[in-house]
Amino acid sequence: MSELVFFSGTMDCGKSTLALQIEHNRSTRGLQGMIFTRNDRAGEGRLSSRLGLVTDAVEARDGFDFHSHLVRHLTAGGRTDYVIVDEAQFLTPDQIDQLARIVDDLGMDVFAFGIATDFRTRLFPGSQRLMELADRIEVLQVEALCWCGARATHNARTVGGKMVVEGAQVVVGDVGEPTAEVGYEVLCRRHHRRRLTAAGARAGALSPDVLPVDAPTAPHMR
Ligand SMILES: [Zn+2]
Repeated sequence: MSELVFFSGTMDCGKSTLALQIEHNRSTRGLQGMIFTRNDRAGEGRLSSRLGLVTDAVEARDGFDFHSHLVRHLTAGGRTDYVIVDEAQFLTPDQIDQLARIVDDLGMDVFAFGIATDFRTRLFPGSQRLMELADRIEVLQVEALCWCGARATHNARTVGGKMVVEGAQVVVGDVGEPTAEVGYEVLCRRHHRRRLTAAGARAGALSPDVLPVDAPTAPHMR
């Protein structure tokens, strides 16, 4: 039975690396995959991992129809045994429905990789639809770590180095680029709620005016 599988995790948890590993494992067994992505850090039509691996992919723009694309490919004599979709949080709910149709009507496994929640801790619409439709959800256990060493479960957006909790849901940026205007950082929930990034914690350690990281907070601050 073919399956729609949603591999979910924070930024920096190794999703794209796993996507490339699945592609490698299957292609070395003679299977043919169709790879899709959207807004990859390496640019259009590329699926890249932070460890430096990269492969070509089909860019799924606004209005792109996954199901029609596969049907056209098969009708033209192409072969596809399975489908990989990276950055699936950026897809619309309709596009996720198309992925389910590929599984059910075309009999292909679809492996979708994405971040569950945005920088405000809200589900991306595409990720919500994947949770509703997926046969299986795998929460990735290659754990990203907060600067404090705790498991990082939340994505923070920084603008000019400061953590923000308002703004458009999708602004492309990456973790580990502190000089970028818009950046991202993974945090534990505690530090996401306190809006305390690594840079903020460093500044706080130098300034007596800022609440120490491990100081108990008053109830109204929780
Ligand atoms: Zn933390």
